[in-house]
Amino acid sequence: MEELDGNGAAGRLSEVFALEMTGARGRCDTCGNVVALAEARAFLDAPGVVIRCRACESVLLVLVRGDDRYWLGVSGMTWLELR
Ligand SMILES: [Zn+2]
Repeated sequence: MEELDGNGAAGRLSEVFALEMTGARGRCDTCGNVVALAEARAFLDAPGVVIRCRACESVLLVLVRGDDRYWLGVSGMTWLELR
């Protein structure tokens, strides 16, 4: 499984979010770390996109694409700030 930074996931995330995702920030619900998604750890070849906290490795976000829909899990973040 290839690891990239969060910039690598921006293309797939932009399929769901019309806003620019590289500038999005989130707070890790596990450790409280606030980080730009572009700086988080991204794995694109998991069953979907998985973004993990760089500080504690917790899963922040999961995005799975099906034939005609997406499933988005953000339970690992206290909040997500989009600009
Ligand atoms: Zn964390």
